[in-house]
Amino acid sequence: MTNMTVPEGNLITPEIIGVRGTSSGNPAPETPLPKGHSVSPDYNLTPQTMCPAFGSLRVLTRIDGVQTAMVTDTGCLYGLTFVTHFYAARKSIAAPAFGTKELVAGNVAEAAIAACVEASKVPGTKLIAAISLCVAETAGLTEEMLPPQINGIDVILVRVPAYAIHSHPEAKDVAINAILKKYAPPRMETTAEGVEKPMTYDGSNAEEEELRRKVIMLGELFPADPISVDTVLKRLGSGLAATLPSRNLDDYKLARRVGAIAAVHPFYSGSVATLRAAGVPIITGAPVGPEASYNWIKAVGAALRLDPALTEQVASEEREKCRAILQRFSLKGRRIHVCGYEGNELLYARLLVEAGAEVPYISTSIQKSLYTAADEAWLKARGTREIVYQKTLEQDIRALDVYKPDLVLGTTPLSAEAKQRGIPAMYYTNMLSVRPLFLSAGLAGTIQLIQEALERAPRYEWMREFFEGPRAPEPQAAVMNTLD
Ligand code: SF4
Repeated sequence: MTNMTVPEGNLITPEIIGVRGTSSGNPAPETPLPKGHSVSPDYNLTPQTMCPAFGSLRVLTRIDGVQTAMVTDTGCLYGLTFVTHFYAARKSIAAPAFGTKELVAGNVAEAAIAACVEASKVPGTKLIAAISLCVAETAGLTEEMLPPQINGIDVILVRVPAYAIHSHPEAKDVAINAILKKYAPPRMETTAEGVEKPMTYDGSNAEEEELRRKVIMLGELFPADPISVDTVLKRLGSGLAATLPSRNLDDYKLARRVGAIAAVHPFYSGSVATLRAAGVPIITGAPVGPEASYNWIKAVGAALRLDPALTEQVASEEREKCRAILQRFSLKGRRIHVCGYEGNELLYARLLVEAGAEVPYISTSIQKSLYTAADEAWLKARGTREIVYQKTLEQDIRALDVYKPDLVLGTTPLSAEAKQRGIPAMYYTNMLSVRPLFLSAGLAGTIQLIQEALERAPRYEWMREFFEGPRAPEPQAAVMNTLD
């Protein structure tokens, strides 16, 4: 066995990397790390994500009238409440005193119920969400162990152990799906042939008629996006009924009654399955860039059975507006990497490709699914070489060496690594996901931002050279005489 002394401050040194690499069967890196770079592209040693359950907690604590009860041990509780309050949860999170003693005694359900009872005492509570994390799930907390109501308040179980839910976008889906199952379950009817099927619409009054002509968008949106989408839909005689996730519990109750659900982000697969089972038409994809905006408006028109000529006219006009913007802000000849963990990376990549950019590498934290397939096929047909799902930081760094991009839209550590190499980089979450994206209104701001970042390239190279000196010449490819 190898003796290893951990140096002061627990630094990960090349020696430790070597020992870990050998013990796991991987060869030690043959080439030393580039000067000044902190991440080894050969080992997945960095923490890849924070606790994914944060996605559920963040969505649930933002809904008015929802109180959360976190069924977990003290360590998880500390970290998760810290970040939730960092993101301005502004409400208490109930939690049981849950340690080894309670686990050994098998008191998981009792502990969960006690926390829910505490949550029910908060004035104005309409729904209690019991969030079951790794420890409680491993110990075995099932839906049947929780009462459907406590003190007259509905209780839902949100199961988000990290060994089953790998990213925080997917944990958001688990939370939304749990609410939809409670408030938008299918209403069943039996046909004349004796077949039971979901009844989506009973046509009982004018309000139902109006809702049936509207759409709910499912996906976390920048506030300006629903406004521009609603404006375009109103031209078709439709409109947005709500967006989910919403702060208003009543919006979740509308989901079964609208004419269609537009699932604009691909990771809401559980929620989509629940609504599909309830008989609600689902529109996938999102209105980003000329082609996708055109297709999306046409899909809404078809799902709601709107006037085909008017739909074609509005869709064509929006496509032309997008094309006009792209003519002003072309990204032709630029190579860009899109590496986020939000789950909407394929949408941004489509936008860049339509603007003329080359996007050889895309990575995301979510898993590949039926709902990523169309965008993946579209991108690969237009030159994208790699799309990495459930990615690691090290894969993103290896891709920098392989494709040598002009700009990186990446996570914090990847953006830092790119800047150290003199490559312009933007932090995906803070710079991109906080801007409008949809239709021509969203396109203009996003493309302009990216073009400005590309123009700053000389400054990044100047900074790199300031710290590291002139760049070593690239090794020349060996000349091979194929006539020998
Ligand atoms: S043990 Fe599980 S629930 Fe707790 S912080 Fe880690 S990943 Fe999250």
